Amino acid sequence: MTEHKHWSEWLAERVIEEKKEPYVITGGMTTSGPVHFGTLCEFLFPASVKRALEARGKKVSFYFVADILDAFDSVPLAMEEYKSQLEPHLGKPLCDVPDPTGKSKSFGDHYLDEAKVLMKKFGIECTIVRINEYYQQGKFDEWARFYLKHEADAKKIVEETSGKEEKKDWSPLMPICQNCGKIATTRVLSHDGENYEYVCDRDVKYTKGCGFKGKAKIADHRYKITWRLHWPAWKQIFHSSIEGAGMDHHTKGGSEDTCKEITTKLMKAEYHIPFKYGFILFQGKKYSKSKGIGMGISDMVMLIPPEVIKYMLVKPDLEENVDINPTAENMLKTMEDFQKAAELYTKDMEALNRHERKMAIAYGLSTDKLRWKVPFIDVLLYYQIYKDWKETARLTGDPEGVEYLKPYIGEWIARDFMPDDYRFKYQAGKIEASELAKRFVASLKDDMDALAVHNAVFDFAKANGTDPKAMFGELYQAILGKERGPRMGKLIIAIGISRLKKDMGS
Ligand SMILES: [Zn+2]
Repeated sequence: MTEHKHWSEWLAERVIEEKKEPYVITGGMTTSGPVHFGTLCEFLFPASVKRALEARGKKVSFYFVADILDAFDSVPLAMEEYKSQLEPHLGKPLCDVPDPTGKSKSFGDHYLDEAKVLMKKFGIECTIVRINEYYQQGKFDEWARFYLKHEADAKKIVEETSGKEEKKDWSPLMPICQNCGKIATTRVLSHDGENYEYVCDRDVKYTKGCGFKGKAKIADHRYKITWRLHWPAWKQIFHSSIEGAGMDHHTKGGSEDTCKEITTKLMKAEYHIPFKYGFILFQGKKYSKSKGIGMGISDMVMLIPPEVIKYMLVKPDLEENVDINPTAENMLKTMEDFQKAAELYTKDMEALNRHERKMAIAYGLSTDKLRWKVPFIDVLLYYQIYKDWKETARLTGDPEGVEYLKPYIGEWIARDFMPDDYRFKYQAGKIEASELAKRFVASLKDDMDALAVHNAVFDFAKANGTDPKAMFGELYQAILGKERGPRMGKLIIAIGISRLKKDMGS
C-alpha cells in the first residue's frame, strides 16, 4: 500500500525494483551563498533514501555534486563588506573566484565548506564532488564531444522541452575565456567537434565580456557544458539510479523535462528515477537566500537538536511545501511530536495508522537513539522554577537527558525564546495569596500526582461554588503572579506540594 508508506520507503522500493545494485544516489547544488533550509534538504532528502536502502540491506553510495564551475553572478548579502573586492570577479566560475575571507580555496568552496559543516552537524555522509575537478580530469569530455556531434538535435530538444527558442549561436559549451577568466560572457563561434573558436563579448547585465577572441579544444578542459545538458551528463558519469530536485526543476519547461528527453532520446540511455520535492517556506513565504528572511538554519540548530530539525523536514509528504514557522509554541510542539514519534518507533509498524507510521519512519531517518527521556517541556518547567541544572536533573530523574538539552534550553532563555506560559518566576510567599488559593493548597495531599492535582482544582472549585477557570486564575496569581502559566498539575508537582504549602503559609 503505497499511500500508507513514508516517501523514503516507496522511493527505496522503486529503486530496488527498477535498478541494479550497487545503487547510486546523486544530488547537487551550486554553492553560491549562505546555507539555508533549502540547502539542508538538498542533501537530507537523498540521504534519507540512502538510509532507507541501507535499512533494506542494500549497497548504495551518495554523490553530492558541488556545481562550482557555474558563473559567479551576484555578491550575496552576507559578503556585502567584500563587495568591491568581489565585483571584478563577476562572471568567472565560482571555483576561480578568490574567497575574500581567505578561509577556503575559492568563493564557491567557501559556501561548500559551510555546507560541509552543516552536513557533519546533521550526520549526513556522502562523497562530495567538486565538479570543476571532474571537468579538469576530462570526465565530461566524451559528453562535450557527444553534444557537439549532435548539436542540432540537442538544441532541438532543449528548445522543445523548455518551450523557448534559443539563439542562432547557441552552443552546448560555455568556454572559459583565456584572457579574463569569465565563463558567463563567452560564446562559441565555430567548431569541428574537438577544436572550437570562441569570443568573449556577451553582456549578461552583471558583467560584460572582454572582447577576446580565442581558440581551444575539448582536451584543454577549459569549458563547462551548459546546464540543461550538463545535468544529464553527470547522471551518466555517476551511473545515477535516483536523483531528486526541487519543484522549480520539475515545472513544465523545467530542466527535468530536458534531462529526460536528452537521456532517453539523444543518449538512448536508461533514465534514473527522478523525484521532486516541495519548497521550504518561512512563515508561508518562499525562503530566499539573497534576502535571508527569517530565522536561519544556524540559529535554529542552537534552539533545537539537529535530529529534531531533520525530523521536521523529512516527515511531511515529499511534494508538500514545508512551512517553517519557528515560534516557541511551534518548536515545543515539534519537540513533543518528536518524542511521541520515538515511542511509536518501538512499536509494530504494521499496527500503526498512516500518520503514526509517517512519524515513526521520519524518526528512524533522523536519529539512532533518543537522547533524552523526560519531556523537553518538563525540563524547561523545572529549570524555570529552580534556576539550577543539578536540581533540574535530580528532580526530573533524567540527568543525561537534561545534560543533552541544557545548551538548547539555555539558548531559549538567553534569547527569551519562550512560550508565554513558561515566562515566569516562582512567586509563592512573596505575593499575598487569596484565601481560596491558600485553602486549596492546604487541601492537597502530599502523595498526589500531576493529574490528581489537576482534578483536585475542579473538585475544589465545584465544592466551593467557584468557576474552575477563576480558580485556576487565582492559583496562577498566587504562585506565579500572573494570570496564566504551565499546566497547573505539572507546575505544583514540579514545585513540590509540601514546599508550596510552606511557602504559601497554607
Ligand atoms: Zn574574456
